[in-house]
Amino acid sequence: MHIDDVKAVMYELSKMVDNDGENHDCTKKSQERMFYRDFVDTQENGADFVNGEWYQIHVKAERHHLLSNCPTDVNLIDIIEMIADCTCAGLARSGQVRGLEIDMDILNRAVGNTVELIKSMVTIKEK
Ligand SMILES: [Zn+2]
Repeated sequence: MHIDDVKAVMYELSKMVDNDGENHDCTKKSQERMFYRDFVDTQENGADFVNGEWYQIHVKAERHHLLSNCPTDVNLIDIIEMIADCTCAGLARSGQVRGLEIDMDILNRAVGNTVELIKSMVTIKEK
């Protein structure tokens, strides 16, 4: 029974990871003109992309920029998305992955919140 319980939880978690992957950087599409405007402004005029209108919306609407805006219910799925994001971005831009910055307080909160998330997925049945 334990094997089936863990299997079911891991499957639900994998669907959540898959869903986050599907929706990664969705604000690039929902705010496409703003993103393009700020991107071009940065490339051509040296504008500060991180302080631009699009980036600020992006980090508030999406959960994976944990150092800019960490959700109170941050979990390990958010951490995985952040690692995938930084690794893919680094490899695409320079062929290298710079040292990943992760705040240990955020990581500890993510572990605790993931426990709570799993608890909310489980129903204990009386025999
Ligand atoms: Zn992002």
